[in-house]
Amino acid sequence: MKNRIYLFIAISVFLSAGFSNAQIKDAVEKISAADFKKHITYLASDALLGRAVPSPAADTAAAYIARAFKSYGLKPVNGSYYQTVPIKMGKIEGKFNNVVGFLEGTDPEKKKEVLIIGGHYDHVGPFKNTKFGQDSIYNGADDNASGTVGVMELAKAFGTLNPGTKRSILFIAFGGEERGLVGSSFYCKNPLYPIENTVAMLNMDMISRNDPDLVYIVASKKSPDLTKINEKENEKIGMKLDYGQDMFIGASDHAPFLSKGIPSLFFFTGVNKVLHTPKDEADTVDFNKAERIARLVFYNANFIANDSNRYQFVK
Ligand SMILES: [Zn+2]
Repeated sequence: MKNRIYLFIAISVFLSAGFSNAQIKDAVEKISAADFKKHITYLASDALLGRAVPSPAADTAAAYIARAFKSYGLKPVNGSYYQTVPIKMGKIEGKFNNVVGFLEGTDPEKKKEVLIIGGHYDHVGPFKNTKFGQDSIYNGADDNASGTVGVMELAKAFGTLNPGTKRSILFIAFGGEERGLVGSSFYCKNPLYPIENTVAMLNMDMISRNDPDLVYIVASKKSPDLTKINEKENEKIGMKLDYGQDMFIGASDHAPFLSKGIPSLFFFTGVNKVLHTPKDEADTVDFNKAERIARLVFYNANFIANDSNRYQFVK
């Protein structure tokens, strides 16, 4: 009888773990190179004029992301998928939106804690370019349609999980990164969920160029626990992790979160010779690499959002 009970328990544990692993596998496989291609090709098309903020073209990009969040089952925050951000810098004056989508956690206590998954959707728009001799559109396919689609693909994947994760997840496509981290700085000054309950931030900016197996992990020294989680989760993906690019620690939207003491990692594939030129176009980025990095970030996020630990931040 005892043996039977143990056998029953063993089978139950196996089945429940098996079910959940199958769900995770299904979810992660929703993150696809084909969808990276579809969305990057649109966001980095000439029609969107390089998505500089503030501009109607950037607003069109934001609306596209918001529609995607809604279709994946993410909830608006305070009734909106937008957090409106004012901007005034010399002649540039107006407003733009951070795009936000929320998945509430399933654990009655842990759902108060929030993981943020972010990437900026804006780029630098068209302007006179002496190198190319003409007015040109800076398409920003790698920078950062790639990371924007990373956020969208993770939103889609997590949106399929039922039940969802224990902790809540807030997805943010930031605007104004190229103007000096304007959208992410605004978020950190006007957070939609309390900063003290924000357990981690994962940022994707430029995830689709250079060596197909290499990803730079920036801010690892400030976020040692997250770094360990990433190394473990990367066993499922097999990227080469490189910690040698911390000179970019202040260069993207994780930086204001680090300033608030939130453990954060920045996933980045490095500078390249088409960065901030009209040649950063969709037909030259590596969709398969973007898929692999987004899947790696998904595994990290899934671990963090089901964990009960808080993570070390090194000042
Ligand atoms: Zn960028």
